Amino acid sequence: MDEFDMIDYYFKKKTSTRTDVIMGIGDDGALLLTPKDQLLVVSVDTLVEGVHFISTANAYELGYKTLAVNLSDLAAMGAEPAWFTLALTMPSVNQPWLEDFSAGLFELANQFNMQLVGGDTTRGALTITIQVHGFVPRQQVLRRAGAQVGDKIYVSGFLGDAGLGLKVLTDNYSLSAESKQYVLQRLNMPTPKIALGILLREFASSAIDISDGLLADLGHLISSSQVGAEIKVPQLPLSFALQTISHREAVELALTAGDDYEICFTVSPHQEEKMLSRLKQAQIHSTCIGKITAGAGIKLLDYTFEMHRLGFQHF
Ligand code: ADP
Ligand code: MG
Repeated sequence: MDEFDMIDYYFKKKTSTRTDVIMGIGDDGALLLTPKDQLLVVSVDTLVEGVHFISTANAYELGYKTLAVNLSDLAAMGAEPAWFTLALTMPSVNQPWLEDFSAGLFELANQFNMQLVGGDTTRGALTITIQVHGFVPRQQVLRRAGAQVGDKIYVSGFLGDAGLGLKVLTDNYSLSAESKQYVLQRLNMPTPKIALGILLREFASSAIDISDGLLADLGHLISSSQVGAEIKVPQLPLSFALQTISHREAVELALTAGDDYEICFTVSPHQEEKMLSRLKQAQIHSTCIGKITAGAGIKLLDYTFEMHRLGFQHF
């Protein structure tokens, strides 16, 4: 199997096709139709073996996750996904690996009607780069900047699950079978919050996806918005799995662990009620965790235990 047969078999044949693709895989560049009055949102992420994943990582989950983390960035911008490109560096053509990797990749891509429109294939240490493209109406882009003093701070879903999943893998952490399965799923196959991002176009004053932990990512949001934040620690959304470990450890994970790919967003109090009813209609879970304040930095409120292990400088 030569390089072009490989691209054809594992990638070109498996991708769904869109009418806005004039030329996808097969020429020197892709030719794409962009909708009028919308902005093209572009984001890229690279996963390197030994840095972002271990050599025994499941190829199916890897394909899924590499696209999911990119889609999470589109979600945080309020964008609707359209296309993606894939740069793959591999030590050799490992067909069983490619079979699983492409299956995981297209499982997610096809859910969002995304077309793989090109890429690059090279020999070297296993490295996967995906670039995604999506659209958002010009006036409705979600950005990190835009949070106003008095806005409520929300997060989708639950926090700290992927961090607990990582502990299960690395520290041989003991957990019930059900919790273990749940946190590993959260770590290995995160769900990008695309529908939430699109819904928030109308309501959110700012948004960011949580890839590096709530404190780190909310920190980026408030510094872009030039405001401060107060977080009520007891309001942090903890899943059933985090509720079975020590409360203090759960809170530390929820505040600092990465890889959850939930969305943190802000909404003005005037818009809050309408937003909540739309979220409920859409059956999207979210929790108010605090509010935007004047000044800078994140202040944590209402916790009753020492959090010296956080090692975070914002408070
Ligand atoms: P070039 O030599 O012009 O850079 P390539 O030979 O690298 O082109 O690729 C040929 C075609 O296959 C191009 O359309 C390219 O976008 C596509 N392609 C290459 N590698 C991949 C990949 N890993 N996934 C998807 N498409 C790919
Ligand atoms: Mg060429």
